[in-house]
Amino acid sequence: MNTDNLLMDIENSTAAVDTEPAPVISKPEINKEHLKKDEWLKVRFWTQTGFFVLTLYIGWEFVVFVNKMAMGAPADISQRPPGIEGFLPISSMMELWLWVKTGLAPAIHPAGVVIFAFAIGTALLIKRGFCSWFCPVGYISELLSRIGVKMHVSIKPWKWIDYPLRSLKYIIMAFFVYAILLMPLNALYLFITGDYNLVSDVKMLNLFSFDDRMTWSVFGILALLTLLIKNFWCRYLCPYGALLGIFSMASPVAIRRNASTCIDCGLCDKACPSFLPVATKNSIKSAECLACQQCTAVCPVVDCLQLSTPKKRLVLKPSLYAMLFAGLFFGSVVVAKIAGYWQTTTDVETYRELTIKSESLSHPRDLKGYK
Ligand code: SF4
Ligand code: SF4
Ligand code: SF4
Repeated sequence: MNTDNLLMDIENSTAAVDTEPAPVISKPEINKEHLKKDEWLKVRFWTQTGFFVLTLYIGWEFVVFVNKMAMGAPADISQRPPGIEGFLPISSMMELWLWVKTGLAPAIHPAGVVIFAFAIGTALLIKRGFCSWFCPVGYISELLSRIGVKMHVSIKPWKWIDYPLRSLKYIIMAFFVYAILLMPLNALYLFITGDYNLVSDVKMLNLFSFDDRMTWSVFGILALLTLLIKNFWCRYLCPYGALLGIFSMASPVAIRRNASTCIDCGLCDKACPSFLPVATKNSIKSAECLACQQCTAVCPVVDCLQLSTPKKRLVLKPSLYAMLFAGLFFGSVVVAKIAGYWQTTTDVETYRELTIKSESLSHPRDLKGYK
């Protein structure tokens, strides 16, 4: 939001308050300098951009590695960037579950397990920062949504269609979780160590080949829908976000509003990308809250709206949130590397052989019989 417009809104809001009967509580402190200087939205934007650039770099390294595999060029498995496994949440969930059930440590996509555990852990601790501060898909989705707003084509979905559509991602998520949790251990192990899963990262890359019209058509439709409805994919379809949302509800951290200083300007409601009723709730517990802090960034009253623990013992301002989030992420990676849970144990020749025939590998369907 433009700062000048925001300041005008503040003037109007405070003027409206002044015409009310004598307030019981003293006038809230409005700090215009604080709004001008503390460019909170930019903190998140640059954090997201940093992670997005890192993702592009990892993607580029992976493409180079897979090309070497396909062309028979000499290579070492250490040249494959393990971070690419962050795009394999289902495989990671399976490996994590096998680890929990049997104690068999992740070996096929260990980095994927680390990133998945990090996403769940941070959701439990500090809500869905994974979505709003980290995820490259969320970042692109947000950029498209902003373009939609600038083009004046963005709409707020009607409730009668919004609610049922929102439940879709929970249904998809429940399907995957149910299927994985109920899988016999032997079948789980066979899937994880099977050819398809060993190169599921290459299978994913194959989807992005330029002549795959189906994939690009789906991306095109999703991009158009995101221009029309903010974060369409995240809001309605992403099972990963749905799972993080469920875990985030147990987090002690939430957006908390001080009703006694709130001037009911409604700016937080307008800013919320998840269309949550921030201005009328004392705290936001919703699974849809992304911890993006767009609402706190536009609140004109000092310390009225904050992301915090109960009783505001710890207030997570965006700069602190960014440092905490990045620190936890890179800390997890370092610990995983030291502990030997980052690099796959798949040997390079097996990987090469499976990469060459990856197009013909199909999803195993005969695992149900294993007990
Ligand atoms: S909802 Fe899914 S795609 Fe969207 S930001 Fe979260 S994890 Fe990423
Ligand atoms: S309530 Fe605030 S932090 Fe949560 S999604 Fe809305 S704007 Fe973001
Ligand atoms: S909490 Fe929302 S409605 Fe209240 S002052 Fe802040 S932005 Fe305005």
